Amino acid sequence: MAKTKLLQIGDITDRMRDALSDQFEIDVLFDQGDRAGFLAANGASYPAILTNGHYGVPEDVDAATPNLKVVSSYGVGYDAIDADVYAARGIKVAHTPDVLNDEVADTFVMLWLAVSRQLIPSDRHVRSGAWEAEGNYPLTRSVQKRRVGILGLGRIGQTIAERCKAFNADINYHSRSPKDVPYTYHATAAECAAAVEVLVAITPGGASTQHMVNAEVLSALGPDGIFINVARGSVADEAALVAALEAGTIAGAGLDVFEAEPKVPDALKSMDNVVLTPHVASGTHETRQAMGDLVVENLQQWLVDGTVKTAVPECRHL
Ligand code: NDP
Repeated sequence: MAKTKLLQIGDITDRMRDALSDQFEIDVLFDQGDRAGFLAANGASYPAILTNGHYGVPEDVDAATPNLKVVSSYGVGYDAIDADVYAARGIKVAHTPDVLNDEVADTFVMLWLAVSRQLIPSDRHVRSGAWEAEGNYPLTRSVQKRRVGILGLGRIGQTIAERCKAFNADINYHSRSPKDVPYTYHATAAECAAAVEVLVAITPGGASTQHMVNAEVLSALGPDGIFINVARGSVADEAALVAALEAGTIAGAGLDVFEAEPKVPDALKSMDNVVLTPHVASGTHETRQAMGDLVVENLQQWLVDGTVKTAVPECRHL
C-alpha cells in the first residue's frame, strides 16, 4: 500500500519515527536546503503535518499546503497554529493534552523552591569555597503556607493547585471564567496578583494572553512576591519583568519560557534572584515519550477513519 506523505517540522524521537515509518513517507522540512523551492515543488502533496508548539505551521508552509487534512502537534500549546482557520477549512488539529500535566506542575514546584530557597546561589556558596571562607549562607524564605495565585486554572493549573496543597498554600486563581473549585477566583490578573505572594502563569500563549503579566500586575504582586512562568514567554511583558526585578518591585522569578526563545535577556542571566530553565517543563524521557505516542496515535487514527484522538477544542466538532 502506498504510504501517506507527512511533512515533519521540528525534531521527533526515533521511537516516533519508527512508529510512523510503516504508514507514512516522512519529509523533514529543516533538512531541505532550498526551503522555498522544496515547498513549491512538494507542498501540495502533503495531507499531513507533524509539528510542535514552537514552530506550529509557519506561513510559508501553510500557503504551500492546499491539500492539508491533519496537523498533529507535539505539545499541548498550539498558539503557533491558527486552529480557527484550520477548523473552518475542515483541517483537524491535534495536540497532546493531559500527559504532561504532572511534569509541568513539577517544574513549577522546582522553580518556586529554587527561587524561594535560593538553590542556585547557595549551591554556588558551597562550590566556590565561600562556605569555608565566609561562613554560613543567609536565611531564605519558606514556601510553606503561602498565598499562591494561578493564572489559568486549566488541566495544568489544576495540577499545580494540587501540588500547592503539599505546601499548605492558600490557592487563588484567575481564568476567563470561574471554575467549580474550592479556590478564590479573581476577575483580573492584577487582582489575583494583589492577593498573593507567589504568582504562576499557566495559560495558553497567543493574542488573548499577550503581556497578561505586565508592570501593573508585577507591581500588584509586590516586593515580597515571586513570579513563575511555565506558560509561554508572550504571557509576560519581559521588559517590564526585567524592570520590576531590577527595581525590587518583585522579589524574584522562575522562568521556563521567554519572549524570543532561545534568546534570554542578559539582565535576567545576571540576577541571583532569578532561576532560568530552557523551556523544559515537559522535557523528561517519560513525558516526551507519552507525548510522542499521542502524536503518533493521532496520525494513525486519522489514517484509519479521518478522526484524531485529541483534537484541539476548535476542531472537536469536525
Ligand atoms: P487548558 O486549556 O487546560 O487551560 C488553560 C487555562 O488558561 C484555562 O483555565 C483558561 O481559562 C485559561 N485562559 C485561557 N485564555 C485565557 C485568557 N485570555 N485569560 C485568562 N485565562 C485564560 O491548557 P493546559 O493547562 O493543558 O495548558 C496551558 C498552557 O501551558 C499551554 O497552552 C501551553 O502554552 C503551556 N505549556 C507550557 C509548557 C512548557 O514547556 N513550559 C508545557 C506544557 C504547556 P478558561 O477555562 O476560563 O477558558
